Amino acid sequence: MNYGVIVVGGGPVGLMVASELALANIKVCLLERLKETTPYSRALTIHPRTLEVLDMRGLAPELLERGRPIPRGHFAGLATPLDFSILDSASNYTLFLAQSETEKLLEERARGLGVAIFRETEVKSIRQHDEGVEVTAIGPEGEYRLAAEYAVGADGGGSLVRKQMEIAFLGTDATFTGMLGDVKLPELEPGKMVSQFTEQGGIMIVPVTKQIHRVIVFDSERMAIAKDEPVTLDELKSSMLRVYGQDFGIGEAEWLSRFGNATRQAEQFRKKRVFLAGDAAHIHLPAGGQGMNVGLQEAVNLGWKLAAKLKGWAPDWLLGSYHEERYPVSTALLRNTEAQALLIRQMPGIMELRKLMASLLQIPEANALLSAQIAAFDVGYAPDLHSPPHALNGRRFSELTLRLANGSLLKSYKLMHAGSYVLLHLAGDPQFGELVDWEKYGHVEGVQASIAEEAADWENVHTALIRPDGYIAWAVDRSEAVPLEAVKAGLARWCEPGSVHLK
Ligand SMILES: Cc1cc2nc3c(=O)[nH]c(=O)nc-3n(C[C@H](O)[C@H](O)[C@H](O)COP(=O)(O)OP(=O)(O)OC[C@H]3O[C@@H](n4cnc5c(N)ncnc54)[C@H](O)[C@@H]3O)c2cc1C
Repeated sequence: MNYGVIVVGGGPVGLMVASELALANIKVCLLERLKETTPYSRALTIHPRTLEVLDMRGLAPELLERGRPIPRGHFAGLATPLDFSILDSASNYTLFLAQSETEKLLEERARGLGVAIFRETEVKSIRQHDEGVEVTAIGPEGEYRLAAEYAVGADGGGSLVRKQMEIAFLGTDATFTGMLGDVKLPELEPGKMVSQFTEQGGIMIVPVTKQIHRVIVFDSERMAIAKDEPVTLDELKSSMLRVYGQDFGIGEAEWLSRFGNATRQAEQFRKKRVFLAGDAAHIHLPAGGQGMNVGLQEAVNLGWKLAAKLKGWAPDWLLGSYHEERYPVSTALLRNTEAQALLIRQMPGIMELRKLMASLLQIPEANALLSAQIAAFDVGYAPDLHSPPHALNGRRFSELTLRLANGSLLKSYKLMHAGSYVLLHLAGDPQFGELVDWEKYGHVEGVQASIAEEAADWENVHTALIRPDGYIAWAVDRSEAVPLEAVKAGLARWCEPGSVHLK
């Protein structure tokens, strides 16, 4: 085998999954047909849960340096914004950052971790057999073949991997389109944002750089135009005038494009040795700014599981849990973007519904519910039925301030930079150190600490196992009859040490 894993597609999701694998010392290559990162950024927003996950890998400072935080999100551009500031997290904001910048950062990191990135390399075919996968690609030096134990298709909405694996892409075609322009608006106040929906359509304007604004227009008279039809500057200008009454002196365009509300989801996120992630697994109206965010979270869910399998310590069920855990999250994403599409689409009575929804969003609980959805703070996984029940099992691991044995304080996400499990022992049991043969658990970071902040949910926790993707595998309560035995059993179930090492 040339590689442990071949990743097809070097967008944000492919880069992230490749980095996660490389972090675990898996030999991984990434094949990307473009020569360099596209300057045309579809995504502009990174949401709270993705920020947390990137923080867990030590990327928060660089992201903050490059992006611009704002404490809000939106749902269908309703007049009441989503208030992310109430989220229980240091990452309680949207980070405005062009996708091209995010990709550059992720690519630097992937290269730094040793991912073999082949650009100008288009995958032409992929097939799998019992022992592995084979990929044929055409690169600058012609056609070549690569073999690996597993492959990940992160090759976008038109995914060749998905098609060649004959995985059905179930859903509906677009029923309307919107226009996008990254343009100069000399008459718009610097930094100003616009969001307005009327019977004529909807418009949203946000700054991308000091010079460029992103204009999104849903013009009721032009929503039936096919996605592939090019947008002209004149068209965008007249739609802005029709929908908003102003064109802000629209000048040069860096990028003009059209997008639609086609909504589809791969029937399976895994077919034996081949996995799908990101747009290869789901497409939808880009409303609320979620596709890349969800894809990055999939990448982080998949990376450590696949690495664990290749390292030989993954129990059989772990790899299967990728589809089980992420498919429903993707379905929920499709449903919330379909709901937003209904609110955006022009039809009789829609303005009344929008007003009603906007007033409901002024109720803090309603706002919190949708904020959690768009921020992906509502994502949790099924509790492990083999572990003693605990309210924390399967939940998102929100960052804790820990006090270590030497008295120093530590933010818990710092423990997760290496992508290992974190075994957090909070009960000061002197026998904890002899619990298992730690040499065999190199993929588990054991930490003895206490919690140095108010955290009611953690009050009686004896020990908890935090997964590398920032969810709680299990927590053992101090009231357990023999807590150390429960911890030992939980370790054996989730991270049985093995002997196979690829690298
Ligand atoms: C107008 C618009 C605005 C958006 N705004 C947001 C937002 O604000 N926030 C958000 O989270 N999401 C947003 N999205 C969605 C987001 O852009 C996508 O979800 C994200 O790009 C998906 O990442 P990906 O890596 O899965 O796929 P892609 O970014 O599509 O990357 C796939 C890569 O695979 C490569 N590839 C394809 N086929 C092959 C092949 N055969 N061989 C080799 N390489 C191949 C492609 O060149 C590409 O680089 C928006 C989308 C649109 C259209």
